[in-house]
Amino acid sequence: MADTDGTPAAGTSRAAGRKPEAVGRAPSAAERALFGRARAAAAQAYAPYSGLRVGAALVTPDGAVSTGVNVENASYPVGLCAERAALAAAVAGGERRFAAAAVATGSGAAILPCGACLQALAEFGDLDLVVAWPAPASADAGALPELRVVALRDLLSTPFVLPGPSS
Ligand SMILES: [Zn+2]
Repeated sequence: MADTDGTPAAGTSRAAGRKPEAVGRAPSAAERALFGRARAAAAQAYAPYSGLRVGAALVTPDGAVSTGVNVENASYPVGLCAERAALAAAVAGGERRFAAAAVATGSGAAILPCGACLQALAEFGDLDLVVAWPAPASADAGALPELRVVALRDLLSTPFVLPGPSS
């Protein structure tokens, strides 16, 4: 699952309850369109347990787009995030190189990829991520999330790498 607005759920001890400061840059028109594809895909999410519909879109350097949605399950850990669903669809379609990925909620609320999805995407390089960045803690409660483009490595600076035989 992905982080919604940085607010820890009641009764949890999640350390990441603070809202990150905005990083990255404003998106291009093409990147906004990719975000739109992710948000449109979210309508197809299967999220009967959380109600959090998430869509993701991956684009290759040639402009081919693959989308995915979150697919929840009665056995919660079996659920799949939208980013990894999009990645699986793209790879199944023969794609191996990606320029950017977008992730969006159906409502437009801010969301960032979870750590597992960052790791999954990092397998294919340092993509640009188009996301609705959470408003800073100092912002008004009704502040709208800002669309930002961040490098994957800004969110996951050191991905896991499988050690080689000589390591
Ligand atoms: Zn995820």
